[in-house]
Amino acid sequence: MSTIPLNLQAVRQQIAQAAQTAGRLPSEIDLLVVSKTFDAHAVLQAVHAGQTAFGENYLQEALDKMHVIAELAPELALEWHFIGPVQSNKTRQIAENFSWVHAVDRLKIALRLSEQRPDHLPPLNICLQVNISGETSKSGVSPDQIAELAVQIAALPRLRLRGLMAIPEPVPVLEQQRLPYRQMKQLQDQLSRQGLALDTLSMGMSSDLTAAILEGSTLVRVGSAIFGKRDYAK
Ligand SMILES: *Cc1c(COP(=O)(O)O)cnc(C)c1O
Repeated sequence: MSTIPLNLQAVRQQIAQAAQTAGRLPSEIDLLVVSKTFDAHAVLQAVHAGQTAFGENYLQEALDKMHVIAELAPELALEWHFIGPVQSNKTRQIAENFSWVHAVDRLKIALRLSEQRPDHLPPLNICLQVNISGETSKSGVSPDQIAELAVQIAALPRLRLRGLMAIPEPVPVLEQQRLPYRQMKQLQDQLSRQGLALDTLSMGMSSDLTAAILEGSTLVRVGSAIFGKRDYAK
């Protein structure tokens, strides 16, 4: 038997445990299952175990997978999140096929997504990626520039600015993992005091979701803990 349903159950358990430790309700934390490099059948196994929200990084791979799933199970209504870096020439298909985009870090990209989001769909949910670990990461907005960008993007039609996202530098120890996530929470609080209330902190992956939940994550993005190690050679 596949281990996907069991792994999913274990991750849900870990989320509930971390929430309890933090004095939060497990229902405050959404699980986004990251299915990049895994095929439609793997996604469907997670669906059969109760999962409906999936994250993808590579546009063509995601579109192919959505197509296969629509053929195999046309009755399913899944929620797709684009979590990879967004290139300008990909914005139209992202705006047409996804419900969320997690890694927006430029006004230009947000403007295109806003213009290209079809009218028959609800507004596209947006998170701004914050470069919380400093120079080590190339993508993300620096914390001191986030307020200005957030105000501009919040004003765009057809988009709904939901929150902040981060991928901190990987570190092994829980206490170290918590620091960047604590800074993210402070950034969210700061924006809130400036009148910009955001309801989402997209933070935490397989190896650090407990730390992220302890610091206030509302959405964890989990791949390998559910599907196993990724094989990019396939
Ligand atoms: C791949 C990826 C994940 C999932 O990572 P795991 O360590 O496999 O859980 C989460 N977020 C982003 C942005 C990713 O690219």
